[in-house]
Amino acid sequence: MITVALDLSCTICGHSRFTLPVGQDDGDSVHCANCTAYKCKAMDLERALMATLPPSMPAVPASSGAAQAVPA
Ligand SMILES: [Zn+2]
Repeated sequence: MITVALDLSCTICGHSRFTLPVGQDDGDSVHCANCTAYKCKAMDLERALMATLPPSMPAVPASSGAAQAVPA
């Protein structure tokens, strides 16, 4: 498991840190890192995050072009 801060909040305690499965033994569920309440399936996480974004915001990872290397 890894613990990450997401743009989601736990429906139980309002926490915004969640544990994500990283191995086969971890299952496929995302849980609140604070109260361990079930949040969603890991495969649905991207969709859940997208749902929190305003419609006008392109859902592109910030690293996909904003951080291009500049020749010295
Ligand atoms: Zn919680």
